[in-house]
Amino acid sequence: MPDICYRCGRPFVQGDSRYEIKVVMKSGFDGYLPDYQSQDFVSEFEKLERIEASSERAERDVYYEIELVLCYRCRRELEDILGGFKKFEEVQKKVH
Ligand SMILES: [Zn+2]
Repeated sequence: MPDICYRCGRPFVQGDSRYEIKVVMKSGFDGYLPDYQSQDFVSEFEKLERIEASSERAERDVYYEIELVLCYRCRRELEDILGGFKKFEEVQKKVH
């Protein structure tokens, strides 16, 4: 267990509340693969460069997991951020 808050770096002292946070984001694949060969937008070399540059990002896009420990204040801020994620239907109600 870390002895400082992952986000703000505040050291935990005996008796402090600390919160273990685990975030997992997994890609939901629908089975459809676009036909890139029919698209004439870049050379093969450029395609390879893009693939290499984005491979790490692509891995994270498929599966991303992070575990961290936060202090109470940072945990509350994270909770507020997550609470700020409005469902599509809620956003639509505000617009109309
Ligand atoms: Zn903190």
